[in-house]
Amino acid sequence: MQFKYLMPTEVYYGRESIDKNKNAMTKLGKKSLIVTGKSSSKRNGSLNHMISALESLNIEYIIFDDVEENPSLETIEKAASLGRDGNVDFVIGIGGGSPLDAAKAVAVFIKNPQINRDNIFTSGKLESIPVVAVPTTSGTGSEVTPYSIVTVHKEETKKNLGQVVFPAIAFLDSSYTDNIPYNITISTAIDAFTHLVESYLSSKSTIMSDFYAEGGFKLFKTCFKNLIEKELTEELREKVMLASMLGGIAIAQSGTSLPHGMGYALTYYNKLPHGLANGVLIVEYLKSFKNKDKIIKMLNILGVEDLDQLKDIFDRLFQVDIKISDKQISEYAISFGKNKDKLESHPEEVSIEDIERIYRNSLK
Ligand code: NAP
Ligand code: FE
Repeated sequence: MQFKYLMPTEVYYGRESIDKNKNAMTKLGKKSLIVTGKSSSKRNGSLNHMISALESLNIEYIIFDDVEENPSLETIEKAASLGRDGNVDFVIGIGGGSPLDAAKAVAVFIKNPQINRDNIFTSGKLESIPVVAVPTTSGTGSEVTPYSIVTVHKEETKKNLGQVVFPAIAFLDSSYTDNIPYNITISTAIDAFTHLVESYLSSKSTIMSDFYAEGGFKLFKTCFKNLIEKELTEELREKVMLASMLGGIAIAQSGTSLPHGMGYALTYYNKLPHGLANGVLIVEYLKSFKNKDKIIKMLNILGVEDLDQLKDIFDRLFQVDIKISDKQISEYAISFGKNKDKLESHPEEVSIEDIERIYRNSLK
């Protein structure tokens, strides 16, 4: 057996985690740039908690609060120039995956002033200034992954920045998720679930990523039931945040696979939220496997009998209603076929026709 395991983020998990563990930030410097979304962090308490912590530690801060969903390189450039002009020592991302991923990219852009939207993907490996991550959704696990997924308008798609930016510190406080609307709760939870599944079934999975994935499936066994019955208790919020973090640690080792790669087009062109874009494809993706050994193991841990029962759970959690033509499916499949990294993560041979079939059967 052989594996590489890397997860260097210092994680503080639990309610009030910023206030209780704020001293961890003193080693990162004296001035910070907070990168956040347009409004939710002002409502759920996370931004205020961070500001109070920074003020009590005498750490200066500047705020950039204009990160859109699926952050673009244009937005990242704007935030980075604010941080560079302000001479900040580190970046704090607060929000869902979009602000967290933006914060990671901003930290790379600040450290490397020669980098811009046109040369970032051809620049080789780059360093970043430190990042602190405060997730306010339970879905992406971005607080414990090295990835930053950005929208590249020039290429009409989303893709990984291609740099390794693990946050130095992550504060996970599920109270920020207590009042997330039901639809966002579901789409983000489905994202976390698909991370666990895609990691578990990836050709790049390791015994370590499998431990995390199986731990996540155990949590989802009860979470699915609570989510369907809309029992959105504090305990449920804590469990889903933990499952999301486990999914992040798992994909940090293995990466994601077909559903994530195929879902980017559904988000870019059909405006489907990230989690649903993967979630709508997952059952057909699972059905496409010839060797179902690990899928059976996963279903056992989830307490789900078969893929039809899993489909039934998904149908009760969300509906996707988008119109997509055969021509679009063929274009999406051809475009996905160029994503060598995601294709390599799939342990079986897969053709463009297989990809088209997964899209077609999932969206019919
Ligand atoms: P998001 O795009 O960050 O946010 C979606 C919406 O949720 C926004 O309207 C946001 O509002 C709102 N929101 C966030 N926290 C909230 C809260 N506590 N209460 C109420 N509303 C809240 O959603 P996400 O699903 O977390 O992130 C998706 C992004 O992460 C995608 O770009 C995806 O590609 C990426 N991703 C990254 C990784 C990784 O490893 N790095 C993994 C998977 C996905 P505001 O805009 O006002 O904040
Ligand atoms: Fe994801």
